[in-house]
Amino acid sequence: MRERFAQLGVTRLARMVEISRVLNSANNLDQLLTYIISEAATLTNTEAASILLFDPQTRDLFIVASSNEIPAQMAATPVPLNGSIAGAIIQANKPMFIPDVSKDPRWNQNVDKAIDFQTQAILGVPMRDVERQPVGVLEAINKKSGNFTRQDAEMLTILADIAGVAVERARMDENLRQAYAELNDLDQLKTDFISIASHELRTPLTVILGYLSFLREESSPEVVGQFDTVLNAAVHLRTLIQDMLNFQYVDAGQESLNLERLDVVALVREMTAQTDETAVAKQQTVTTNLPDTPILIMADPSVIEVVLNNLFDNAIKFTPQAGHIEINIENRDEEVWVMVSDDGMGIPADQIERIFKRFYQVEDPLERNHEGMGLGLAIVKELVELHQGRVWVESGEGQGSTFFVALPVVEVGH
Ligand code: ADP
Repeated sequence: MRERFAQLGVTRLARMVEISRVLNSANNLDQLLTYIISEAATLTNTEAASILLFDPQTRDLFIVASSNEIPAQMAATPVPLNGSIAGAIIQANKPMFIPDVSKDPRWNQNVDKAIDFQTQAILGVPMRDVERQPVGVLEAINKKSGNFTRQDAEMLTILADIAGVAVERARMDENLRQAYAELNDLDQLKTDFISIASHELRTPLTVILGYLSFLREESSPEVVGQFDTVLNAAVHLRTLIQDMLNFQYVDAGQESLNLERLDVVALVREMTAQTDETAVAKQQTVTTNLPDTPILIMADPSVIEVVLNNLFDNAIKFTPQAGHIEINIENRDEEVWVMVSDDGMGIPADQIERIFKRFYQVEDPLERNHEGMGLGLAIVKELVELHQGRVWVESGEGQGSTFFVALPVVEVGH
């Protein structure tokens, strides 16, 4: 390589450096290709230049850029690997000079006919990726004066090497962009599915719950227990569906919120006024430490209720029999902190970041003892963030957990 550069001369070397800079900064494949052919024609002083890229899937080549305007149909016609000049260059993976194409059986005249051009001589070099595998062919066509020189071949080879890497990178960028767009579409499909499924499930479930409660009232004492089992299962199903429905707030964004001046202290007091049946059944104690004065935030009350209920339900769920749950509210600078603590199983340090992700659960889903879909905390985080708030947890395995919700305060009462 150093020898090659020595022969180039300072002016051409400077030009190569500039070309390399442009190729490395461009990431639009079409612009990149157009730039390469224009430089190839200038550097070799030829009438035209063209690029054919190799498609590893079909193992054919396609004309992707040319100084002459190539009709779309021609560009879409594959150039076979076997029996074409470009194919021979790819297979040999080295430069090739054809002084008179009319004498070469591999020459296909159709392109010339279609664009009304007369190809005479071709200097073709492989374009290679970083691993030096050919990804395409760069051809310089018809020297404007004199014959092709060794230096032309050297120049074109260096250009093709730089171009090969840049083309490969641009192709990868494009693939990545495409994959990203597909992922986005999939994510949208999943969101739509959750939304439709939850709506569709809710209506029949409401009917089931209504009739079950009615039948239970009317039933004889010996079957009440059985009705309770069915009723509990249906109520559980309703909570799961509610989780799915809550995502609509998240996906609809801030516009779905009905913001109002809300006293968090009053809301929590109201929410904890009724004893929670599950906590009672597990003989857990629930304590609250609330300030005497109101703390006002701008929030959607039903959404904040969803947030706090999710944290409260988790505290009950992941805390064993006779455990303790505590809810504290504190006014901190410009924020109000609502803290839901428990002395339950806790969360291992390496899982803490992940529990706020959709569908993430610490326990193996196949072996877990607790119900749920792993959506609760993702909903909490996204809904709190819609209110410009923050949520985090302090916990350790076997050490209980404290979940913090911090929301911006608008006013503190006196
Ligand atoms: P779900 O409760 O439906 O599994 P969440 O998103 O509410 O989903 O919680 C995700 C996971 O975080 C839970 O599966 C559990 O492993 C862990 N987790 C949440 N809250 C607590 C808690 N208070 N104590 C211990 N682990 C918890």
